[in-house]
Amino acid sequence: MEQYKMIINGEAVAAESSNWEAVINPASEDAIAEVPQADYADVDKAVQAAASAFTTWSKTTPVERSTLLYKLADALEAKAAELSQIETLNAGKPIKLVANGDVPFAIDNIRYFAGQSRVVDGIAAREFVEGYTSTVRREPVGVVVSIAPWNYPLMMAAWKISPVVAAGNTVVIKPAPQTPLTTLILAQTALEVGFPPGVINVVTGGGPGVGEPLVTHPAVRMVSFTGSTRTGKRIMELASQKVTRVQLELGGKAPFIVFADADIEAAAYGAVVGAYVNTGQDCTAATRIFVERSRYRDFLAAFTELSQQVRLGTPQAETTDMGPLISMDQRHRVHGFVERAKAEGISLQMGGEIPEGKGFFYKPTIFCEAPTQSEIMQEEVFGPVVVVNPIDSEAEAIAVANDVKYGLAASVWTKDTARAWRVAGALEFGTVWINDHLPLASEMPHGGFKESGFGKDLSRYAFEEYTIAKHVMFDLSGAVKKPWHFSVFGPE
Ligand code: NDP
Repeated sequence: MEQYKMIINGEAVAAESSNWEAVINPASEDAIAEVPQADYADVDKAVQAAASAFTTWSKTTPVERSTLLYKLADALEAKAAELSQIETLNAGKPIKLVANGDVPFAIDNIRYFAGQSRVVDGIAAREFVEGYTSTVRREPVGVVVSIAPWNYPLMMAAWKISPVVAAGNTVVIKPAPQTPLTTLILAQTALEVGFPPGVINVVTGGGPGVGEPLVTHPAVRMVSFTGSTRTGKRIMELASQKVTRVQLELGGKAPFIVFADADIEAAAYGAVVGAYVNTGQDCTAATRIFVERSRYRDFLAAFTELSQQVRLGTPQAETTDMGPLISMDQRHRVHGFVERAKAEGISLQMGGEIPEGKGFFYKPTIFCEAPTQSEIMQEEVFGPVVVVNPIDSEAEAIAVANDVKYGLAASVWTKDTARAWRVAGALEFGTVWINDHLPLASEMPHGGFKESGFGKDLSRYAFEEYTIAKHVMFDLSGAVKKPWHFSVFGPE
């Protein structure tokens, strides 16, 4: 069994405890590798390495950081085929999604932040108070801990490492225990292209012995987390003990609103792609589809027919549209939502079944006309499960779309541009697409409203998350007594 080691202080290391955890291929249920099961001793070593590296890395020039990030992107591009194969094997994602989506997008994200590291701007230095020149410095935060989920492992590593180090911080990243492999390759590649030891550290393994000590370690200044809202709340609670900064990208329950004037065929295609991408394990996945009543039946028929054509299969095959869920636990969780929705009497249009054979596969599943307050309409399922409901007006569409605790992403399907702008403005979601669902851009922010969290990934907003604005104010007079001092002390 291949053993992948952690990267701490520039070295590939096993856990201090010598414990190892198996990494599972979710399509075959076989163990494919082992990674160290870290505990507090490893966490402490990694954070200390990051803290020590920060003293020099934070003083490097933007061009030095930028050059290394470009080199990292080039080196990962040279390994793109290998990365795609490993990501597919480890995460069960179809090869065509990984090779055309995750890997090139992760590389593009790194290149974007390589450029962004040289573009720091802000308020102009000038005299805002007479007799003083003010200027703003953007300081790096310090040691940043990143805790990543299993749905987009390499992309999450790129999102959570490149803006952090571009801004002059150092990082300890913990990939999800299910999917550590490509994050370890990224960190190893960073060392090969010349990143100094301790700037990028990876600790592996799962459970409360790793994640929580990372969040509460006294030398950690910020935690960036992507995952469930439940864990996000726990991290916020732990971080509050030392007022550690947090950036949280949490769950989603995206509405997909189809008005009667929309291109119904385009909307049906968009819904298939939006709902079943990555087997529905996507925080922006279209999970609540609302269709204006006059076109409801047409849409449902077209969407159901296309959903029946989605090809489940081995993730390595170019013809596979949908791979397995990440784990037995996740399939159990997804099936639980489906069983409870059925028990509530919600109409099942198709799916809801576990296919025979090995692997954690699940069939595309469509429910219809579910009550707004039902669990299947309110909670993140994170599987290929979608609800299609009729709506009778624009006002109703906006009200039901917003009637959920999440606020990450939404889409609106219409040919009426005025309506598209109106509805996009009224939706309480961090991204709103018009006539498509899912695309992201490195230059544009990604992050939520409400219980989907706060703080942004991607874009200059993410870069700014990892800096602190500092006001430096110079006295220009050199006077012993400034004109305003009398108001605090002594006569004028
Ligand atoms: P979690 O949010 O629990 O896990 C995500 C990451 O957080 C993992 O690396 C996990 O590792 C870590 N983690 C968990 N608990 C803590 C903690 N107390 N302190 C620090 N780190 C912690 O998601 P699950 O994997 O349990 O998936 C459950 C559900 O979460 C999914 O069904 C889905 O609804 C949602 N989810 C949403 C994602 C998104 O992109 N918005 C991504 C993944 C999941 P470990 O558990 O080993 O500590």
